Amino acid sequence: MQLPLVQANAAVLRETAKQIKDPATVTDLASDLLATMVAEGGVGLAAPQVGRGVRLFVTNVAGQPLVFINPTLAKASKEEIWWEEGCLSLPRLLGQVKRPKQVTVRALSETGQRREITADDLLARVIQHELDHLNGILFPDRVEDLGTLRYLNDEEWQSRFAIGAEAAKTEM
Ligand code: ZN
Repeated sequence: MQLPLVQANAAVLRETAKQIKDPATVTDLASDLLATMVAEGGVGLAAPQVGRGVRLFVTNVAGQPLVFINPTLAKASKEEIWWEEGCLSLPRLLGQVKRPKQVTVRALSETGQRREITADDLLARVIQHELDHLNGILFPDRVEDLGTLRYLNDEEWQSRFAIGAEAAKTEM
């Protein structure tokens, strides 16, 4: 079921999300997050973005949907790279953010299994962006050069939803 996204100024986006005691209680929420992320054309989505302040996010990179419950960052590479990020909670806004190129994250899967995932490039980027969402941080907080922030006009915005444009879209 697709869920509505909360407004950019919603308090839940600025709060520290709560640990999930029993993964079985978020089975429906996880599948709704996946459906919402796909419907919105995003590469990631965190529970606070649909108004639920719990430590859960989903990603969809290279056609592989993943669910992360109670994720923690285990390792981050020294090497950092720049990437132009967008956020489903901040429509049309893009900006350059520098983050570690590779991260290792520990989490529970949708079935409550412990897992450790090492990710590079876009998936590493999305994981870090979503971890930030669980800690009340939005990507503009991490933009060092405010001159890289740009706001897409109607034409640019619509072109991001055009057929074949999926690869270019990095809202999360
Ligand atoms: Zn976001």
